[in-house]
Amino acid sequence: MPTTSLRERSRKKFYTSSILRGGEIAGAGAVVRRTRLYRVFSVVIRQRDLGEADRILSLYTRERGKLSAVAKGIKRPRSKLAGSLQSFSYAVVQLAAGRSLEVVTQARAIDGHYRLREDMNRYAHASYVAELLDALTDEGMGDEETFDLLLSTLVALNQGEDSATVVRAFELKLLGGLGYGPEMESCAVCGGDVDANPLFSVGQGGIVCQQCGTGGGINISGAGLRALRNLRRMKMDDLLGRRLSEGVQREVGCVMRAFVDSHLDRPLRSAAFLTDEG
Ligand SMILES: [Zn+2]
Repeated sequence: MPTTSLRERSRKKFYTSSILRGGEIAGAGAVVRRTRLYRVFSVVIRQRDLGEADRILSLYTRERGKLSAVAKGIKRPRSKLAGSLQSFSYAVVQLAAGRSLEVVTQARAIDGHYRLREDMNRYAHASYVAELLDALTDEGMGDEETFDLLLSTLVALNQGEDSATVVRAFELKLLGGLGYGPEMESCAVCGGDVDANPLFSVGQGGIVCQQCGTGGGINISGAGLRALRNLRRMKMDDLLGRRLSEGVQREVGCVMRAFVDSHLDRPLRSAAFLTDEG
């Protein structure tokens, strides 16, 4: 088990590389040349082409939440930005405030998370994580806690942790952080005890007791309910090396798929590429 948290290690890596290169990039959030330029820690969660050479990136940043920025010339063969701003890359990015969109002026990768783009299964799960975050947040919306959750999730997937376990934990923590988390401690309707033969009701927003669950719901075992609670409660770092048993994984996956879908306007494209277990 690692002795330092993933975030600490990523930060260390950045500071070390910055010092080695002469420290020409100041700390993130530093204001450079009055207020026109600023720097953020960011992860690329989506990109789309803009003309022949440019792309519009959707960045989830620690300092300013989700924002869109134009990366000019990024599709050109010798672009300096291309290597640092691939999908799921963690980078420090310098932006110029634009009239409608920000413009990327410099970027340096802290961790490219390159294994996420080399392995189909990891790529599918990372795509789902990024797309779900994108679907549930608006431009300019975000906080440090969500940024750290995104980063720790991508780091865990990149280093080969069990993708289904990591993604279920991400869903529960993300929804909880945004205020959409399911009720899992007591009956969502009457507030009573639910530990004996509970049901999960998407319509009622979580676990319900047998009396309140007459309208239907998904049967969930005691082990399944404990897994849901643990995935939400435990830090991502503490989940490393853990894997849900096959049966529990199926149960938790089924419940979460239905619950997440109920919060989306339309299905996520990336969800179709996840395996049944994931
Ligand atoms: Zn009840």
